[in-house]
Amino acid sequence: MEQLSKDLVIPVELLGLSDVEITSSKLSRNDEIILCVKSTKSEIACHRCGKPTRPHGKGQPLRLRHLPILGKRTIIVFTPPRGRCEHCDKNPTTTQTLSWHDRNAHHTHAYEEHLLFSLVHSTLADVEMKEGIHAGVIQHLVDKRINNQVDWKSIQSIGLLGIDEISLKKGYQDYLTIVTSKVNNKLSILSVLRGREKSMIKGFFSSIPKKKQKTITAVCCDLYVGYMNAAKEVFSYEVPIVTDRFHVAKLYSGCLVELRKRELKRLRSELSTEDYQSLKPAIRILVKCQELYNEKEKKQLQPLFKLSSSLKAAYRLARQLTGIFNRKHRKPKAVKEITQWIDGVSQSEVTAFDGFINTLSTHLDTITNYFISRHSSGFVEGFNNKLKVIKRRCYGIYNIKHFFQRIFLDLEGYRLFYKNQSITNFS
Ligand SMILES: [Zn+2]
Repeated sequence: MEQLSKDLVIPVELLGLSDVEITSSKLSRNDEIILCVKSTKSEIACHRCGKPTRPHGKGQPLRLRHLPILGKRTIIVFTPPRGRCEHCDKNPTTTQTLSWHDRNAHHTHAYEEHLLFSLVHSTLADVEMKEGIHAGVIQHLVDKRINNQVDWKSIQSIGLLGIDEISLKKGYQDYLTIVTSKVNNKLSILSVLRGREKSMIKGFFSSIPKKKQKTITAVCCDLYVGYMNAAKEVFSYEVPIVTDRFHVAKLYSGCLVELRKRELKRLRSELSTEDYQSLKPAIRILVKCQELYNEKEKKQLQPLFKLSSSLKAAYRLARQLTGIFNRKHRKPKAVKEITQWIDGVSQSEVTAFDGFINTLSTHLDTITNYFISRHSSGFVEGFNNKLKVIKRRCYGIYNIKHFFQRIFLDLEGYRLFYKNQSITNFS
């Protein structure tokens, strides 16, 4: 133990802290590196008038946690000098604050950034464990450094405005509306709103500065009329509203699932156990994916499709519809093809898509707006998967401001708080 507390020699350049020199450095008994530093900066500007002050004793000693050195917890011990103003009434004193820390802070700026960087794609509890800092202190730091709503000055252009909802708890009608912006594949979070009422969404849309509203190229959302109408009413009809292609796909694949369940139930009651068991490989394929089969899988599907012509027909129709979306049609051609598809379904024996066809016909315009510039809302979907991860990770974040901060941190944190310039692509 004794040898551990011998003086260490640590060059001041290593610290990355300006205006200080190291007066002593030790390794403490509990394996912390303790660096005592003193200010080399003589000026202290008066906190009231900003004029230089005369030296006047010292302020309270500070212990600031800094970046670890070789994995060891590192503490900067520092007693800032104080100055007294000769110009101001009652000669107030000012304690010097150097550029690398805030007044009364317990961490250096560099360490604060290290904490925020650690929090990207992580949890307060996790960072608490790794750094030995209470979660509440970390949240306090997040509040200090990360806005809890969008700073419009940082958004040059909105581009594709995505709007979608997530439920906070499984099975609860407790929705959050997430509004995002996408320009050249860069995603930004614009807002997290509680609920999904049209009036509230309209309120947010109206709060977007007029100049920025003009930069919206399209609004992309699901088939929820509240979102669509809010966008129509605020942005008038100049901005096309695009129905998220993947929401449409979810609807018709939902029809397939329902049909499959019905048909399998029927077959289970009609077939012998052995015969039904022999269909298992085919069932597995249909559960796994609805559209892309290789030759072997096609063969395995035959026995099932032979027993259920409606299943066979429905899967074929679903494939056809996806095919239309996958082709690079212009909008009029897409409208024509989808209309033909609807006719085809109506003439077939398949009734599983009846409800879906109603929706498709009602919203054909916004659904086929997809073909104008193929705004694949896959980004909304991909982003939603990200959100699901945040939600799972941050189980218990019911404060929407905190939610906004954490989404922002996940999207921007690497860029903002990672200093290694050799890595430039984080996506
Ligand atoms: Zn003064």
